[in-house]
Amino acid sequence: MRPVSKKRAATLAERERVREHVLERDGGCVFWLTAHGERGRTEWIEGDLVGAPTACDWGALAVHEVIQRSVRPGSELEPDLCVTLCQRHHAWCHEHIAEATRLGLLAASWDFDKFKEGRRL
Ligand SMILES: [Zn+2]
Repeated sequence: MRPVSKKRAATLAERERVREHVLERDGGCVFWLTAHGERGRTEWIEGDLVGAPTACDWGALAVHEVIQRSVRPGSELEPDLCVTLCQRHHAWCHEHIAEATRLGLLAASWDFDKFKEGRRL
């Protein structure tokens, strides 16, 4: 018996390739670049960033799915749907869903086309 199916192993290998690509492409946490509007549209409003970590945790980077894989299965394999965040800002995004959505770091499945047009939220 195989502990991991061939299909699952292939998916894990592909995810690792996507992770490496996204980490290299972004060159670090994109939270503040996003907040400053340097990555396209952001619609955050006054107050959204109150309490957001001011400094990144550069020692701990995560590849975050802007459209969560629970919402769009396979999104973890689509580089356009992934960004690099440090663990600190990654945790903030998942604890501040509405704010992260306005910032463009979380999106709904119907926002998919916006990414495929080459525009990152
Ligand atoms: Zn950060």
